[in-house]
Amino acid sequence: MAADAASLPKEEAYVRGMSLKNMTQKSAYKALRRLHQAGPRKDTTKNLRVTRNAIMQEFDVKPSTTQVWKSTRDRDTSKRTQQFRWRTIHNAHACGPFFARMSSNMARGDCVLCGKIETIDHVLFECVAPEREALWEAAERLWSITGDRWPNMNLGLVMGCGLFRPRGRGNREEKKGRNRLLKKIVSETAFLIWKLRCERRIEHAHIPDFSFSKATAVKRLIDALDQESRTESFRTNERRFKRRALNIGEVLYTWRVFYDNAVIPGERALEELTVGVLGSMGCRSRLEYILSDAFTAESSHNVRN
Ligand SMILES: [Zn+2]
Repeated sequence: MAADAASLPKEEAYVRGMSLKNMTQKSAYKALRRLHQAGPRKDTTKNLRVTRNAIMQEFDVKPSTTQVWKSTRDRDTSKRTQQFRWRTIHNAHACGPFFARMSSNMARGDCVLCGKIETIDHVLFECVAPEREALWEAAERLWSITGDRWPNMNLGLVMGCGLFRPRGRGNREEKKGRNRLLKKIVSETAFLIWKLRCERRIEHAHIPDFSFSKATAVKRLIDALDQESRTESFRTNERRFKRRALNIGEVLYTWRVFYDNAVIPGERALEELTVGVLGSMGCRSRLEYILSDAFTAESSHNVRN
């Protein structure tokens, strides 16, 4: 059995080749960093352009390159999705282009389902993986509850989701809250599609036709959004987080469409809300209700949960 590429000296790992089977995300990422540091920044320049154009097309405002980089640290989105966007812009994921830059005796980065080179654009927007389509469908359905238009989703908008601008009906707070929600839905969905692809190709590599069921994929999205809403509710606690506490109104306006018994401004004045009143309020039951179709019986001989 081949030694784990991560345990080999780096030169040896390259000579022997880094098989997908034995590669961990960490070892692949380290290898990529080494290649990336020495390589051209052509991909990054292209991704920055794609991002700026996508934001221009959707929001009619063209951000600067500096603003795009700054948006990868946008605090309306979770840390994990911030890192994901930063790596995406740098083409720093261990997939197609990463392997294409390696010598010919090394595992190529073709998609095991489609046979095409597995770029991040392929993973997020082209692949036939059932979970990919199921997750974008679920994301759009969740967003439809707000009554606002779902953007014409593409890689540029995923990379630049920290630059989304408030729009649609309502007052300033409502627009801002909805915009935060859109950023979260888009960033968490894209990150989850990537995450499931990695699990499929690494943890389940021994099953060639492995795929996630629609129900499993949607449940994972519900988990991610519920966790994010709980984290945000918890972080409104000023006693604990002091100046780093999140604004309670902002959090309420973000998640209000998914709260069961909405404690929302208008129904209950903000000043009546005490510190930490949100506790760690989540929105799982409402998310499950909206996406209940995904949990109806489905059958497939090669789909595992
Ligand atoms: Zn594919």
